Amino acid sequence: MGFRSRMLRLADSMADSIARKVFLIALAFAAPPVLALQFHAAGATARLVVLAWGILLVLAAWLLGRSLARRINRLTDFSDRLLSQDAPRPLLPSGEDEIGVLARSLEQVAPQIEELVNRLGMELARREAILASMTDAVLAVDSGLNLTFCNHAFVQAIGDHEAPEGAPLVRVFRNPALLEVLTRVLDSGESVRKRLQFSGAVARSFDVSAVPLAGSPNRGAIAILRDVTPNERLERIKRDFIANVSHEIRTPLATIRGYAETLLEGGLEDEHNRRRFVEIIQANGVRLNNISADLLSLSELESGAPGVPPGPIPVKEALSSAMRAIEPAASLMEVCMHADPIPDLYLLGHGTRLEQALVNLLDNAVKFNKPNGAVFVHVHDRSGRQIEIRISDTGLGIPAGDLSRIFERFYRVDKARSRQVGGTGLGLSIVKHAIEQMGGMVEVESELGKGSTFIVTLPQYSKSGTQS
Ligand code: ADP
Repeated sequence: MGFRSRMLRLADSMADSIARKVFLIALAFAAPPVLALQFHAAGATARLVVLAWGILLVLAAWLLGRSLARRINRLTDFSDRLLSQDAPRPLLPSGEDEIGVLARSLEQVAPQIEELVNRLGMELARREAILASMTDAVLAVDSGLNLTFCNHAFVQAIGDHEAPEGAPLVRVFRNPALLEVLTRVLDSGESVRKRLQFSGAVARSFDVSAVPLAGSPNRGAIAILRDVTPNERLERIKRDFIANVSHEIRTPLATIRGYAETLLEGGLEDEHNRRRFVEIIQANGVRLNNISADLLSLSELESGAPGVPPGPIPVKEALSSAMRAIEPAASLMEVCMHADPIPDLYLLGHGTRLEQALVNLLDNAVKFNKPNGAVFVHVHDRSGRQIEIRISDTGLGIPAGDLSRIFERFYRVDKARSRQVGGTGLGLSIVKHAIEQMGGMVEVESELGKGSTFIVTLPQYSKSGTQS
């Protein structure tokens, strides 16, 4: 290293350091007497001694300053690395002076600071994990309505837009109602609860609860948004269901009442018609009975598993028994039922439920058929894992527009025809529930005027006792 670079480094290390200050002070104190003595001292030796003494004094002061600076630098290094968990900590300066005392005190508090930093880090990570995994959307804004935080659920709720921190909320999500709620919280300092509608590809409803942050609106506000769309849908379904049930039972009840009154008001004496009146009363009684039985089945299916645990069911037996039950109706309607040989397959479930589902499908295949029509039953082993039951008919078929809705409760393509053949509009809902409860699914293919095929797919139960 050359002289020039060495001097540059020295100058650099002295720049605004304690060493430089001490050096300059020593120089300022030592230079005047040394210079004065250079002019006034008698002998050359005396002048030389004074000069040497002066230089020695300044050098000693500079060395002392440098040593001080080095020790203070080690303290600074140590405190800098206190917050970083990974970097090794440098050795602290020793000594009995003030710097040594400060070093020892730093050494003592270091583990506490380390633990505090650890705990804070963990707390932060935990809080972030909780907020990120929350299904409720969370957002925080500052007093100027700029976004300071939001979780993934919020990003999803606003349609997966970008939501950068610091951006004005109005630019991230243009929803006047939400902005109004937050503005009210910031203005009043009080919490606000409100149900809001977010329009988008799919309209959603949210229960919003907004509060000022840390009790002070100056710090901003935080809002939690709970998606209540499924609850609203459920409430609507419940309302519709009750209205449908009332509507369904009102007609047979009114008919029964009307004909009973007619009989009482002289109809009993009407020899030509009284039998017909009683038959109408009986048919409507049967209809009410069918509705209540189907409603009961549906509510049992919806309330979860029945008391008895599921067991292996032989498909052959369930299908044969269902076909036997429909046979009289089929011959009445002049519909012929054909079944291919049914393989010995098992599934895990409840025999009565499977049988009820199959009876409903066969009953429809007969009810919505044409005279001299046919029903075909075919059971197929799908690579040892699934059982496919196909029930096809040569009946009326279902219009393409109705196919997606026929599994809804009380949905009927032709209400009058369904009623006429004793339908309740609940049969396919029961089928869907029962099959899905056994881990399967039901699909339909149909061509108007030609017929329909209902395909039930269920997981196969193997003899070893496992469900495929
Ligand atoms: P329903 O008591 O009226 O039979 P379902 O829920 O069983 O009620 O069926 C709903 C509707 O689906 C029926 O009203 C009918 O319009 C149509 N449907 C069901 N199965 C068939 C089928 N095999 N052929 C033609 N239409 C059918």
